[in-house]
Amino acid sequence: MGKTVLVIVEHKHGKLRQVALESLTVAGQIAGDGGRVISGVIGDDVAQVASELSNYPHNGGYVVADERLGTYNPDLYAAAVNALVEQVKPDVVVFGHTAIGRDIAPIIAADLEAGQVSDIVGLVTDDDGSISFIRPIYAGKAFERRQFLTGPWIVTVRPNNFPAITRGETEQIEFTPLAFTPPASERFVVRETVQASDGKRDLTEASVVVSGGRGVKSADGFRPLEELANVLDGAVGASRAACDAGYCDYSLQIGQTGKVVTPDVYIACGISGAIQHLAGMSQSKLIIAINKDEEAPIFGIADYGVVGDLFEIVPKLTEELKRRKIG
Ligand SMILES: Cc1cc2nc3c(=O)[nH]c(=O)nc-3n(C[C@H](O)[C@H](O)[C@H](O)COP(=O)(O)OP(=O)(O)OC[C@H]3O[C@@H](n4cnc5c(N)ncnc54)[C@H](O)[C@@H]3O)c2cc1C
Repeated sequence: MGKTVLVIVEHKHGKLRQVALESLTVAGQIAGDGGRVISGVIGDDVAQVASELSNYPHNGGYVVADERLGTYNPDLYAAAVNALVEQVKPDVVVFGHTAIGRDIAPIIAADLEAGQVSDIVGLVTDDDGSISFIRPIYAGKAFERRQFLTGPWIVTVRPNNFPAITRGETEQIEFTPLAFTPPASERFVVRETVQASDGKRDLTEASVVVSGGRGVKSADGFRPLEELANVLDGAVGASRAACDAGYCDYSLQIGQTGKVVTPDVYIACGISGAIQHLAGMSQSKLIIAINKDEEAPIFGIADYGVVGDLFEIVPKLTEELKRRKIG
């Protein structure tokens, strides 16, 4: 028998986030034959998001729209998610493993007294139809398979690991509005949200990441990396040492205490490859390391390694890519 799966849809500046479309793919796999995938969109003005989402095949959707939901606040969002859960009565609730998903999913799991499997990168359906979820552990050095014994299930999906659901030819999902009732007492309010990064490309969703470490030596040293990222239509990331040294903003930090990325290509420039950094990037599909120390541990996990000075190699790489793009 199929399952009813509720996907909490992430969006930004009126646009669907890629992880929302990937979560719909996961939800479809969990729902199985005879199951249903229902989307839930929460926010202030969500008409544009719902209209975009209506082109992707699934079984229905709800919107919880209220001006108080314009900025993420866990108390208010939890009330909205719980309203969706009450309406849909899902067997499974799926979130993106993003800053918001990581914050809200455990709150909902606690509210529903449900189990949670976080940061899934794969799922396996056994012959008897039971589903296990695969997630990395020990900073990506091993993977575990987890299975739920009781419901409902709460799952968060690591961005960039599942194919996004593709647009349907004729889909036109109807969205039903749900009333929003804020909690009786709010524990805090979000007064202001300051965007720390330049807002160019979301690091966690970029298919190419060019990352700089202490070897980049200064804020100016990041320029060649930015140029390379631009040519590849990618994003710039950093090690914690580079952030600590003030070369770049902490919003770029990748690793155990930073962001987790799984791009198609990760280019590590002047990064030694400490375990805490690997925790954030070791699942990248192709890793290229540029380091002048041939003993640097990053070469241990790199698919391609260049031993040399990044200030010589990175600009040459950019020039060559530009030439090929033009040619
Ligand atoms: C609790 C905890 C959490 C942490 N969380 C994180 C985290 O989330 N992310 C993270 O990144 N770190 C984290 N760290 C820090 C981590 O342990 C390392 O200190 C950090 O990753 C090192 O950064 P790095 O590789 O840029 O610097 P270094 O280790 O100093 O390496 C610099 C590299 O640059 C190379 N280099 C220098 N000049 C050049 C050049 N011109 N061309 C090419 N190569 C050059 C050097 O050979 C060297 O390998 C954490 C540490 C702790 C204790």
